[in-house]
Amino acid sequence: MPGMHSEYSDRKPLAGIEKYKRVIFGELIDRTQWFIRLRWFVPPVIALTVVVGRLSGFTNSPLPFFLIALFILTYNLIFYLIGQKSRQPLTSRRGYILKFNRFQFTLDYIAIFMLIHFTGGTASPLIFLFIFHIISASILLSPGSGYGFATLGVAGMIALYLAESSGQLRFHPLCFGENALATVQSPVQAALILTFFAVSIYLTVFFITSIVFTIRQRISRLVQLTEAVRCLNERLNSLYSMTEAIGSVKNLKTLFNMVTSELCQVMGVLGISVKLLSEDGRLLQYVAANGLVANVFKSKVIEVAKSPLNRDIINGKPFVTGRIKPGEMMFQFGEDLAAADIQSVLFVPLMVKNKVIGIVGAYCRHAERFSAEEVDFFRRAAGLVAVAIENARSYEAIEKLMNERNRFMMHVSHNLRSPLAAMISMLDVVRGGYQGELNARQSEYLRRIDRRARTMIRMINELLTLSKGRDGQQTGAFHPVDVILIANRIRRTFQDEARQKGLRFEITAPEILPPIQGSADMIEQALENLVSNAIKYTGSGGTVKVEFLEGPGQTVQIQISDTGIGIPEEARKNLFTEFFRAENARAMDEIGTGLGLVIVKQTVDQHNGRIIVESTPDQGTLFVISFPAVINGGHT
Ligand code: ADP
Repeated sequence: MPGMHSEYSDRKPLAGIEKYKRVIFGELIDRTQWFIRLRWFVPPVIALTVVVGRLSGFTNSPLPFFLIALFILTYNLIFYLIGQKSRQPLTSRRGYILKFNRFQFTLDYIAIFMLIHFTGGTASPLIFLFIFHIISASILLSPGSGYGFATLGVAGMIALYLAESSGQLRFHPLCFGENALATVQSPVQAALILTFFAVSIYLTVFFITSIVFTIRQRISRLVQLTEAVRCLNERLNSLYSMTEAIGSVKNLKTLFNMVTSELCQVMGVLGISVKLLSEDGRLLQYVAANGLVANVFKSKVIEVAKSPLNRDIINGKPFVTGRIKPGEMMFQFGEDLAAADIQSVLFVPLMVKNKVIGIVGAYCRHAERFSAEEVDFFRRAAGLVAVAIENARSYEAIEKLMNERNRFMMHVSHNLRSPLAAMISMLDVVRGGYQGELNARQSEYLRRIDRRARTMIRMINELLTLSKGRDGQQTGAFHPVDVILIANRIRRTFQDEARQKGLRFEITAPEILPPIQGSADMIEQALENLVSNAIKYTGSGGTVKVEFLEGPGQTVQIQISDTGIGIPEEARKNLFTEFFRAENARAMDEIGTGLGLVIVKQTVDQHNGRIIVESTPDQGTLFVISFPAVINGGHT
């Protein structure tokens, strides 16, 4: 695929150190800017000092000081403009920035020398300005530069003394009124001052550079640690999301794709592959590949015998790393790997119950790329992938079994239904007296047989409904369903039966209700089951109510309540289990299938609905089902 190379980042092993350099370098740039900002204050301070000095009685000429202030102002402006232009820090410009700083310090030196010269030379109190500058140079520049600037300072001061004392430079003492202040009286005094000056300046450089060195080392260590923690965090996150996926993604292919892309990113490699071993252990089939290798390996099969690295893993090695060397028979598709510019690989086994079932591989463009930590992480990830495979396989096996069971149930129910229906129609003929008169006892027995046979056929029908639902046959396409229509049909279906049983039967619904997205037949059947139960389990004189209403959170709610026998507390947890019937229900009506509520629950689930039961024994039961409503033509 053209352009693939740029799409997949292939990190170098020491990526963190580069980052560290960038941090330190970033700080250096910050300090440079800071120095320029600080220098803006110097000219005004000089000007202010001159004014205050004049007012306090100093009689030196202010002109040289103003000129020096102007000089500082000018070069700082130039530095500021240059600094603005080179804002983006780039490691490659480090040398440039250092030169830039050295240049600044040199000009500062010239300004300091001039200030010292005009305030008494060797005897000037401004000699201490050097200390401040030396500290900055030692922090911002290399230790060598610190010592260099110290030497420059000392040499410059000696030169200034010699030039002034020999008369080559005019001596400008500080003058207070008529008197010249602070003049150096003798060469011995000058030597003393300059010696102490040199000692203090060199000691300062020494202390500062050693402190800076330690701090830099610490920062470097800290950055390395931060990088290590970040890496670890990334890997933990990745393991976590893989674990999560194992729990939620049941499709193996989807899971493989997710895991390979995740690993590709976290490990910063060119590609990740998953290969599964054939039953006979001779072939390795690629089931997923991500990154650059996706194309290389698409639908390829490896013969284990031809691939020494893969063979090692299958024979029990915990991991192998290998370099792709041209002409060497390490990989079956070595040329393809070399063509994709892959230099090294890492393979770890996929183990399920101590048996190698496959191999996970990482491919990289750098030789000798995989560190011990990376191997360790990769092995853990492979452990998770193996669990995922095991899970998905078990899930598939269970699903297969469930499907088989379902199909068996459908088959049996279907085959039972026709003979049973035939038996019922024959029974009708006998009960109708077409085959001869029946006495009362015979009639009673035949009535009971008929009732049982009808319950059986109902059970068979319900089993068929359940199996079809589980098989996905029943759900089909969902449409917006008008609930009011269903309410009317329920009224027509049950009102006679309820009246005959001596029950009050009420159905209430508002004039307008939003539709439900679903199958009208399934919803109606579920409601029929609930209403017929309510009628069945409520004695004469009781009340059965069915209320349709708009529920909270954009739902349509249907409440079916009765004043019947209720459901005992201990029976409630089994209510939606196949063939379950509570004791009190059996006592009231010995015939029942125990399948009606299971169908209701299945329908509610398939419609993303909810069902709630509240019941007090001997007082009544309330079933509340709610379905998401379709609002403004869209499904909510
Ligand atoms: P069936 O009614 O054929 O027994 P269902 O699956 O419809 O099967 O109901 C399962 C059980 O739930 C019933 O046997 C009964 O114990 C209980 N039940 C359901 N609806 C009611 C109700 N309205 N009042 C009391 N018990 C109920």
